Amino acid sequence: MAMMISVAALTMSGAMLWLTHGLGSEGLKQWGWGLFTYAVALPVLTLRPMVPEPLSIVAGNTLLAGAVSLMLWGYYRFLKLPANRWLIIGPVLLTTLCMLVFIDQLAARVIANGLISGTQALLMGVIVYRHRQLTPGRGYQLLLAGCCIGVTIFYGRFITVGSGAVTHIDSLGAHLLQTLSFVGSLASVMLDSLGFIGMIKERADERNRRLAMFDELTGIANRRAILDEFGKRFSEALRHRLSLCVLMIDVDHFKQVNDNYGHQAGDRVLKAIAEAIGTRLRTQDSVGRYGGEEFMVVLPNTSHSCGMLVAEKLRCSIRSTPIDIDGRTLTLSASIGVLGSPITAGSTVDAMIRASDAALYRAKSLGRDRVEQGVLDMSQT
Ligand code: GH3
Ligand code: MG
Ligand code: MG
Repeated sequence: MAMMISVAALTMSGAMLWLTHGLGSEGLKQWGWGLFTYAVALPVLTLRPMVPEPLSIVAGNTLLAGAVSLMLWGYYRFLKLPANRWLIIGPVLLTTLCMLVFIDQLAARVIANGLISGTQALLMGVIVYRHRQLTPGRGYQLLLAGCCIGVTIFYGRFITVGSGAVTHIDSLGAHLLQTLSFVGSLASVMLDSLGFIGMIKERADERNRRLAMFDELTGIANRRAILDEFGKRFSEALRHRLSLCVLMIDVDHFKQVNDNYGHQAGDRVLKAIAEAIGTRLRTQDSVGRYGGEEFMVVLPNTSHSCGMLVAEKLRCSIRSTPIDIDGRTLTLSASIGVLGSPITAGSTVDAMIRASDAALYRAKSLGRDRVEQGVLDMSQT
């Protein structure tokens, strides 16, 4: 049985190390080496006639403790936290010491090993539980389940042997304890490893989802996300016969900021303007970066006249937002095109965007730093 478990762990560690070869692994590499160490520990522990007994006892148990320590180190890497050295090295040194001291006392070895390994599993479980909010999915639950099984097996060994419930090495109780330990240890390692891989995947998925939805520079919705939001609000307004308003905001003479102060200063300006817009909207409103220095605001359940008031408020807010660039304070203005309309069967998303865009360009041609209202041209829908 030990050999089968060893082969399973070896296969899994090989796969993990192969997958992470030459890549930043977020702790998967350390975890893979942990599994490899675990796979080596089992034959060392169980092939007693082939491996001299003292070596088998000391090296086998030390390798097992080292395997869990490596996995814990991998988990710290995943958390992007510096590993607690004592939690990593301590159990390994303590195991070696206990095995050397109790080399001739089987019961004492089982008790010491149960206590140390059980505590390792418990510590891992506590760390996983404390950082459970870090990933959005259920990977941490698998990892926790694996830790719980580890705690049960090792503290179980500690209690049954320590209390004298199992005393004789050839007794049925001892055989049962050994079999349960092997099976439980396999289940624990499998659950831990699958949970850990799951957590890495969940974090990558979440990162990709954010990249697909949000503008990296300003942190607000990107063009695709704001258009999606507009589409959803449009359908909702059509279903309930509500008004919907869209604003197109374009920063005036923004190119000059880049030309005079550099691209990084321009980036800072964009962030400040996105924030100035975002903080002045209601929770149901949305803002997104439509293009370079162009923002789109969607105001659900808002009439054209209310939309004009909001646009004016945003224009004033941008105008009065001081932006610090290398000790100098800049203030910029923006032009805004507004289109608000009750949504009826004839309206379309494209026609609304076209109309607000046309209003924006009228605001530009009429001198900038102003709000213009759009007219919905139903003939083009
Ligand atoms: P107008 O008043 O007519 O809108 O003039 P403008 O200078 O704002 O407009 P124009 O379209 O000529 O220039 C927009 C500039 O925005 C050009 C482009 O280099 C810059 N830009 C686009 N995206 C970014 C960005 O992410 N960061 C920075 N710093 N600049 C950007
Ligand atoms: Mg501009
Ligand atoms: Mg522009």
